[in-house]
Order: sequence, then structure tokens, then C-alpha cells
Amino acid sequence: MAEFDYDLFVIGGGSGGVRAGRVAASLGKKVAVAEESRFGGTCVIRGCVPKKLMVYASHYPKYLEDASGYGWSVGETSFDWSRFVAAKDKEIARLEGIYQKGLENNGAEMFHERASVTGPNTVRLEASGREVSAEKILVAVGGRPNPMTRIAGHEHCIVSDDVFDLAEFPRSMVILGAGYIALEFACIFAQLGTQVSVVLRGTEILRGFDGDVRAHLHGEMTKKGIAFHTENNIGKVELLESGKRKVTLTGGEVLEADQVLLAAGRIPNTGSLGLREAGVELKWDGEIVVDEYSRTNVESIYAVGDVTDRVNLTPVAIHEAMCFIDTVYRDNPTMPDHALVPTAVFSQPEIGTVGLGEEEAAERFPNLNVYKATFRPMKYILPGRDEKMLMKIIEDADSGKVIGVHIVGPDSGEMAQLLGVAMKMGARKEDFDRTMAVHPTAAEELVTMYSPSYRVVDGVRQD
Ligand code: FAD
Ligand code: NDP
Repeated sequence: MAEFDYDLFVIGGGSGGVRAGRVAASLGKKVAVAEESRFGGTCVIRGCVPKKLMVYASHYPKYLEDASGYGWSVGETSFDWSRFVAAKDKEIARLEGIYQKGLENNGAEMFHERASVTGPNTVRLEASGREVSAEKILVAVGGRPNPMTRIAGHEHCIVSDDVFDLAEFPRSMVILGAGYIALEFACIFAQLGTQVSVVLRGTEILRGFDGDVRAHLHGEMTKKGIAFHTENNIGKVELLESGKRKVTLTGGEVLEADQVLLAAGRIPNTGSLGLREAGVELKWDGEIVVDEYSRTNVESIYAVGDVTDRVNLTPVAIHEAMCFIDTVYRDNPTMPDHALVPTAVFSQPEIGTVGLGEEEAAERFPNLNVYKATFRPMKYILPGRDEKMLMKIIEDADSGKVIGVHIVGPDSGEMAQLLGVAMKMGARKEDFDRTMAVHPTAAEELVTMYSPSYRVVDGVRQD
């Protein structure tokens, strides 16, 4: 009789967990995956996918507005939130089915219930109370929105999980935070006609991004009518008889809105998961500590994805899962590669970025050449749309290597994907220069910025 019930027990059926479970099962391992909510996890059910569908929905007012610049007459238009929600739900259910089928077809067992760790090789299934054993346990439980319980009246607010299925379309919204989630939803709702106010504790949005990118997006969002309340926070939220929320900011200002979205970061789903009791080391805020191979300090327990808080993106969770498979089941120890991860913020205009921002580059490299262009994309000229595109390349002047590329404008996420390939290959600025432009495109600007706009020497800009 086998020593364990399973070769691998995966807790969490999201991006990382499903990939690891499916591939391990396809290799002939006896695998179980437990999911307490819906298979597909944050990305498919309440993250990337429904968010991107909302981004697409929110592009239409702009297309309709710009159409007359190209000679079109557009009749009366309207947006039906409930029709959109129904269409979106259908697609999410289809994807959820694909995730489950992938596990099922490869012979992985699925448990539709919460699981917790009871020891280095044991897991308890909470609903049935059953305890099972596994040679290896993979924790891929992801994270959840910070509920900001310190805010009086936080219970009158929503978090990103709630946004996708609001019973009524909000005419006004206050959003706390200025990271990916806050800004993506601020742009989505603003484009769909909601009056949006963003409250941020700092002076600038998107901490950690290139300074020009931050300022450019801030400016463009302001032009769209989004109000920013900087160096501020939400003090309290009261529910009025009208159903609206009265929001008192720490700076004293009072706002009123249909909904208040708290988008102030995410916390790992490790509460009452039994990890500390099983001897697994966690950081103070619950992230699981892992080594370069995603292994915890308990030899049989591994963790991948957002719960390890390395780079919290879907493709990264999937990559970490595949490295886990190579390391544990293919006798090929492989460390996840977190360098030069391309990323997009699906704000409007969109951000696409790979590598270091100027500020971080200046801390690490003594000599930088910075190439920068700001221009109105051709497609906005006839409609007269007042929206500018930003492109920026940062070169390590000593080696000639491109160490950062940052774009704000239409399709910049698509561009970042391909720039990621070039930069992974170690592209130098001279490679960009000798690449033929594709004309007429916006992206051609990336290969036609021949002279530096300025240099940065020992952290100081030289104009
Ligand atoms: P998850 O996908 O969160 O999966 C964890 C799963 O574990 C969940 O299904 C959860 O229900 C389950 N679970 C938790 N505890 C237990 C338990 N005890 N027992 C059983 N099951 C449990 N990333 C991008 O790359 N691009 C984007 O555009 C993007 N947009 C996003 C938009 C939003 C609004 C959000 C919130 C996130 C977005 N992300 C995006 C981030 C991306 O969703 C995550 O990085 C990714 O889902 C992480 O995968 P994971 O496997 O670590 O965790
Ligand atoms: P982020 O870390 O991007 O942003 C969190 C925001 O909340 C910041 O503006 C932060 O401010 C603010 N904040 C944190 N704590 C407080 C507080 N106590 N009071 C007030 N404000 C606070 O997290 P998100 O939740 O937006 O997104 C989580 C992750 O999910 C992202 O980092 C990204 O990895 C992933 N994601 C990716 C997307 C994509 O690929 N397009 C889309 C959505 C999410 P400050 O800057 O001052 O710290």
C-alpha cells in the first residue's frame, strides 16, 4: 500500500495551483486540488479576465465619440450594465469549466471545499472533516483584498471582488488607493460615465513605476475628469438614507458617492490555514517564506503565486508552478526567473513597461542615456482627442544595454510583451536603432529615437 493518499495535494485552484495540479497529474502523479470558491481563482473569476472584459466595455464610449472625426454619424447609444454582467458571467463560467476539465482530463481529483494543513504531510478537508495525506503539499491560496477594517464604516464599502457583480451601475465612486487595481477601475468606471474620485495617501500614483509614467498617467486621467485627492486617506464612511455613502477624508473634505471601492493592496490567504502550526515560516503579514525553488522551511511543503508575494501576476504564478514541476517531478531543479517581467496597467491610457524606471536605474547605474518622446497618436488627430502618448527608453550608457522601456498609450501592453522578448535577449540600444520601423504605427517611435533626450550621471540629470 502506498505510504500516502496522494503524491501531491494542491491547496488553491487558481492560476498557480491548477497549472501545477494539471501538469503533475499528466506526469502520472496522484494529485488532488482543493478549491474553496471557484476553480480559476482570482485571475479568471474576479481579476484579470473580468477586469479586461470591463476594460473592453469601457473603450466603446471613446470609440463612439471619436467616430465622427472619421465621418461616421452615430445614433443614440446607451450602456446596459446588466446585459454586460450577464455576458461576462457566461464567459467566466466557460473558462471555469475549461480549468476544471484540464484537471479532470488529466486524472486529478478535485475537492470543492476549503482545505488546511495539519502537518508536513497531512491536509484536512474542512467541509467533510476528512484528513488525507500527501507526499508533497503545494500551497497556492493567493490573496484577497485588504478590507481596511481600521476605517470606520468599512462595511459600507466594496472591494475589487464585489465590483464585477454590482446590482446597479454606480453613477459616482470614491476609490481608495492608487495602485494597479484602483487605477484600472477608476479608468473603467470613468469611461463608462461614473464620476470618480481617487484618494491616495502619497503625492503621486503608482509607486515603484517610472516617474514620467506616473506623472503622465496622472495628467491624462485628470483630463478625463477623474479627481485626485492626494496626501489623504479615508477617515470614515457613513451610509445615508438615500443609499449613498458619505466619505470623510482625513484631510477634512467630505465626498458623497454611490459606491466606495477600497483598493489598498491585498493580503495573503494564510489565516487559519494551519501553516504556522505545521512549522511553516510566514512573514509578519502572512506571506509564506520560500527558497529559490519555492520550497518552504518544511521539506514537503512548497508554495507558489501571490501567497509568496514575489511578483503578483498571473503569468508569474504559472511560471513558478512550472518551475515547481521541473524541480520536484522532472529531476531538473529550476528557479523561477523574476527578472525583466513585462507588465501592463490597463488604465486608459494603458501602461506597458519592462525593466527599470529612471529613478531605480539611476540608483544602480552611474551613466544613463534617456530617450523620451511625447506625442499625439495619429488615430487621435482626426477626432481631435486631447490624449498624448509617452515612450521612454533607458539605456545603460556604459554597456549600451536597454534596461527599461516604458510606454503609456494605446496598445502599450501588447508592445510590452514583445519588448520583453528583446530585453530578455539582452537587447542593446543599437539593436533598437538598426531595427526597421513599421510605418505608420505608434510603436515605430521606439526604434527612431536616435539621440538621447538627456543623460543621467551619478543620479543627476544633465540637460
Ligand atoms: P489565485 O489565483 O488567487 O488562486 C488562489 C485560489 O485559492 C483561489 O481560488 C482561492 O479561492 C483558493 N483558496 C484560498 N484559500 C483556500 C483554502 N484554504 N482551501 C482551498 N482553496 C483556497 N495579474 C495579471 O497578470 N494581469 C492582470 O491583468 C491582473 N489583473 C488583476 C485584477 C484584479 C482585480 C486582481 C485582484 C488581480 C489581478 N491580477 C492580474 C493578479 C492575478 O490575479 C494574480 O497574480 C493571480 O491570480 C495569482 O494566482 P495564484 O494562483 O497565486 O492565486
Ligand atoms: P498595489 O500594491 O498596486 O497598490 C496598492 C495601493 O494601495 C497603493 O496605492 C498603496 O499606496 C495603497 N495603500 C496600501 N495600504 C494603504 C493604506 N493603509 N491606506 C491607504 N492606501 C494604502 O496593489 P493592488 O491591490 O492595486 O494590486 C495588487 C497586485 O495585483 C498588484 O501589485 C499587481 O501585482 C496585481 N495586479 C496586476 C494587474 C495587471 O497586471 N494589470 C491588475 C491588478 C492587479 P502607496 O503607494 O502609498 O503604498
